[in-house]
Amino acid sequence: MAGKTLRLFFALWPDEATRSAIAALSQEVIVETGGRGIAAENMHVTLAFLGEQPARLVTRIDARSAAAAPRFELTLDELGCWAKSGIAWLGASAIPAGLAKLEQGIVMALAALGLEGDERPFAAHVTLARRIARPLRTRMVQPIVWSVDSFALVSSEAAATGRDYRVVRKWSLAH
Ligand code: ATP
Ligand code: MG
Repeated sequence: MAGKTLRLFFALWPDEATRSAIAALSQEVIVETGGRGIAAENMHVTLAFLGEQPARLVTRIDARSAAAAPRFELTLDELGCWAKSGIAWLGASAIPAGLAKLEQGIVMALAALGLEGDERPFAAHVTLARRIARPLRTRMVQPIVWSVDSFALVSSEAAATGRDYRVVRKWSLAH
């Protein structure tokens, strides 16, 4: 019998205030692009995508070196879209050192388990809308400043109303 598997990814999970600010901005983006919105509770920044994995991997991951990265402020200040994939996003024009260190630590934690990171370079973003009908002009917006003090391992399950994300592990970042 095949063991249980989970579709997993590492992510930054927003606090309530950050989530509300992102959700408010997404409403404008949905109108502008004619895209389909993302449920506010699902908004996140993906750090690494692991895909379908044995459920036991969850407890085997050693992310201590990633958690040794210092806490940081992530300034979400840029809107744009990827026309090919039909996604409108909110991104950061600058990657703080803490985030770069965290991302490298996750790549190392995955390599220790024989897992490869994404081929594409890391682009910190929150997806705001999918299947956009009209492109979004790349532009700077009123920054949303997010104080990041933790990161999470999240499972993703297909649900009747879209995706069901669940934080299965969480690590605090260094002070
Ligand atoms: P759906 O696939 O049903 O449209 P989703 O993309 O939100 O929903 P997942 O496919 O489970 O859900 O993806 C979880 C997260 O990982 C999302 O942030 C998604 O953008 C990201 N992701 C998914 N596949 C990859 C991939 N191959 N490489 C990098 N990131 C990915
Ligand atoms: Mg997907």
